Amino acid sequence: MAILVVGSVAYDTVETPYGRAERVLGGSASFFSVAASFFSPVNLVGVVGDDFGEEQLAAFRGRPIDLEGLERMAGRTFHWQGKYSQNLGSRDTVCTDLNVFEFFQPKIPARYRGSEVVFLGNIDPVLQLQVLEQVERPRVVACDTMNFWIHGKPAELRKTLERVQILLLNDEEARELSGEWNLVRAAAAIRAMGPRTLVVKKGEHGVLMFGEGGSFAAPALPLEAVFDPTGAGDTFAGGFVGYLAGTGGEGEAALRRAVIMGSTMASFCVEAFSLDRLLSLTRPEIDERYRLFAKLTSFEGL
Ligand code: AMP
Repeated sequence: MAILVVGSVAYDTVETPYGRAERVLGGSASFFSVAASFFSPVNLVGVVGDDFGEEQLAAFRGRPIDLEGLERMAGRTFHWQGKYSQNLGSRDTVCTDLNVFEFFQPKIPARYRGSEVVFLGNIDPVLQLQVLEQVERPRVVACDTMNFWIHGKPAELRKTLERVQILLLNDEEARELSGEWNLVRAAAAIRAMGPRTLVVKKGEHGVLMFGEGGSFAAPALPLEAVFDPTGAGDTFAGGFVGYLAGTGGEGEAALRRAVIMGSTMASFCVEAFSLDRLLSLTRPEIDERYRLFAKLTSFEGL
């Protein structure tokens, strides 16, 4: 079952205590697509400028990622620059150059309109709704957003959320969207807005999922070397949605396994700059780390 994804395809400049990467491949749709493509075909909708070269496109080639929906516009590609704190726990956005992204109007190719699984990456909620209006009858709509839209376009975001089944947010965003400090209360308030499943990402502290089957908690894999957290959230979403699309599952067991697969993929993402670790990744490595999670959280019957 192919996934339709819409989001940013970017050049990122990233500074961490371990080094600096200048104008490397980034963007929510890039991390999502490469992660999800290990489990399911992906149809990518986004925009790049005429400075986006074959070298960057190579990341998507040779994988089941369809690029008909990746528009090329005259001008420069979206560029984001971020700087991380010493413990990698927080980051400042140094600059966001929207460039061609400012004029982005998602056009869904006819071939993609029957998509059963849709992932709305973190973009203007008005554009997210435009995407949903161009797809026929998606079975699963998953969505990501950020503080910028929670504050900037609250009414528009609420309209989009009415049509979303799975919302992925970080803990701070969940608090801001709901106006509730307690995460359990925040989840109840957000689920009343539309999404029946809420996945709250807490960085190195793991993930909490709230849904019809109750709550589920997963840790992040304790790693010896975290190099660059950029894209971890989108990579989590790629593993999570990719797993659901690939297995066709929807119930509680599938959702819980999808959380672990999302966490598995995110654990690889942070080990190198940009998409570098994802691009060298193999399926046996993914399966081995997925099994490590079962060991990490098992405490009965040992
Ligand atoms: P994450 O670390 O999962 O929050 O995602 C980081 C990625 O999001 C980077 O690769 C950026 O290029 C991209 N990004 C940052 N700001 C924005 C924005 N305002 N709109 C779309 N994508 C963005």
